[in-house]
Amino acid sequence: MLIVTLQRDKCIGCNYCEELCPELFKMSRKDGKSVLLNSVNRKGFHTVRPLMELHEASENAKAACPVKIISVTIT
Ligand code: SF4
Repeated sequence: MLIVTLQRDKCIGCNYCEELCPELFKMSRKDGKSVLLNSVNRKGFHTVRPLMELHEASENAKAACPVKIISVTIT
């Protein structure tokens, strides 16, 4: 199972994650930060369990994030 987490409060709004993985990330028009689509927020950690097909794209977003707030795990 693929698990992707975003520590949203620390996002600086660079847009890389949306460019690399638009299936999971979308920039908010409200506050300019990234939104992890369909995620659940627990104490600032937004988590979603997407399809395995999104593993590579989510890893690319993780690698590109300049503040390292995206985590990608396979269980
Ligand atoms: S790559 Fe990181 S800092 Fe940039 S918008 Fe996405 S979550 Fe925010």
